[in-house]
Amino acid sequence: MVDDSGLRALREAARLSPDNLPLRRHLAGLLLDKGYLAEAESEYRAALLLAPRDPGITAGLAEAFARQGAYGAALSALEPFLAEPGYPPRMGVIAARALLGEGDVAQAGFRYHEAVMRAPQAADPELAARLAAPAAAAAAAPAAAAAAAAPRAPQPVEGPAEPYEATDDRRSGVTFADVAGMEGVKEALRVKLLLPVRQPELFAAFGKRAGGGVLLYGPPGGGKTHLARAAAGELGASFVSVGLSDVLDMYVGQSERNLHNIFDAARRSRPCLLFFDEVDALAARRSDMRQAHNRQIVNQFLAELDGVDDRANEGVLVLAATNAPWYIDVAFRRPGRFDHLVFVPPPDLAARAAILRILCRDKPLAEMDFDAVAKATADYVGADLKGLVERAVEDKLRESIAAGRPVPLTTRDLLALTTSQRPSSVREWLATARNYVMHANDSGAWDELLPWVNRTW
Ligand code: ADP
Repeated sequence: MVDDSGLRALREAARLSPDNLPLRRHLAGLLLDKGYLAEAESEYRAALLLAPRDPGITAGLAEAFARQGAYGAALSALEPFLAEPGYPPRMGVIAARALLGEGDVAQAGFRYHEAVMRAPQAADPELAARLAAPAAAAAAAPAAAAAAAAPRAPQPVEGPAEPYEATDDRRSGVTFADVAGMEGVKEALRVKLLLPVRQPELFAAFGKRAGGGVLLYGPPGGGKTHLARAAAGELGASFVSVGLSDVLDMYVGQSERNLHNIFDAARRSRPCLLFFDEVDALAARRSDMRQAHNRQIVNQFLAELDGVDDRANEGVLVLAATNAPWYIDVAFRRPGRFDHLVFVPPPDLAARAAILRILCRDKPLAEMDFDAVAKATADYVGADLKGLVERAVEDKLRESIAAGRPVPLTTRDLLALTTSQRPSSVREWLATARNYVMHANDSGAWDELLPWVNRTW
C-alpha cells in the first residue's frame, strides 16, 4: 500500500483520467523510483495498453519485474527490443541485471558493457561491481540457475586469448550484382576500396596509398552488411564480420586483446575485408565515457587501425557500419582510419523494385508487378522487403503442401501482406538524423543527409 500523499493524489488523478498517458507514465516512474514495485508494475502494464510498443514504458515494466526477481518476465518484455540494433541502452542495463539474476554472468557482462559504451550515463556502479565479481554474483543467484550457468561463465584470461579465426566467405559469391540500386554507394566503395587494390600503380602515381577505412551509416536494415559482403566478393577477399560479442568482454583488458586478435587474424588472411557491425559501441566518443576501461577499448581500436607501421594493414580493408554515426569519436575520422563516411540511404521506388527482383529471383512466380509492390512499400528498407518476401513464401509453401503442387507467388500475395507488416523505423531514424544535421553539423559531416531529412513524407 502506497504511503505517500503526493503519490496517492497522482493515483487518484490517473483513476479519473485513465487514458492520460503522460500522467500514467509519470506515476509509474515515481512508483518505481520510490520502490513500490508491484504498484509500478501494474501502472506500467496499464500504460502499455495505451502505448503497446513504447520503449520507455517497456523498460520501466522490465525494471519493475527485475527488481522483484521476475527475471524471465523482464527478459521477455525486453526481447523484441534487444533483437534490434541500437536499442535503448537503459534496456541493456536492465537486461544485464536480469541475466545476472538468472546466473548468466557472461551475457550479463556483454549486455552491460555494450549499453554503457553507447550511453555512459546508463552506468550502474553497483551492477558493475557485481559483474566484476562473478563468483559472488553467481553465489547470490538462485542455486539452480547458478549451477546451470556455471559452465558458461568465462574464466579470467591471464595470457593472450585464443587466436581469432577468420571466417572465409570468399566462396559466398555475393557481389555488387546482388546489391540493387545504391549506385552512388557502390561507386564510392569502388574508388575507396577496390580500385587501390586492383590498380595500385595508378594510385601510387597520384601519391595515394591503399588503406584507411569506410564507415557506412544509415537506417537499420538498409543493406550495410549486405554491401560490405558484396564488396568483399567483388574484391575476391575474405570477409570477416565482427559483431560486438566478438569483442566486448567483461574482464578488463580482454576486449582489447580480442580486438588485437581480430586484426591479427585479418592480417594473416590478406586480402581481407574486416567488417565491424554496430561500430558505434566500439568507437564511441571518449569524452562521453566515465569508465577508463571503455576509453581503453577505443584507444586500442585506433591503434589497430593505424597499425604498427605503414605496411601493417596492407591488404586489410576495414569497413564499419553504424545506425548512429554521431556517437563516434572524431578521432576515427582522421586520415587512414574511417576517413570516408558513406551514407546508405533508404531505397527509393526504383531501388525497392530492384531489391524485390533480386529477392524473388529464385522463387516460383506466376507473374509479379515489382513496380506495384515497390509503390506499396514506401517506407520499407531492404530488410523489410526481405521479411515481406519470406513471409509470402512461407504462406505459399503451406498452400502448396495443402494443394499437393507448387502454388506460385503473385503480386497480390505481396500486396496483401503490406497491409499487415509494418516497416521498420526509417522515419524515426530520419527524425533523429534531422536533429544532428540541424544542430550539430558545424563540420559539415552530415551534409549528405540534408536532402533526406528535409524531405516531406
Ligand atoms: P543493415 O546491415 O543496414 O542493417 P542488412 O545488410 O542486414 O542491413 O540488410 C538486410 C537484408 O536486406 C540483406 O540481407 C539483403 O538480403 C536485403 N537487402 C538490403 N539492401 C539490399 C539491396 N540494395 N539489394 C538487395 N538486397 C538488399
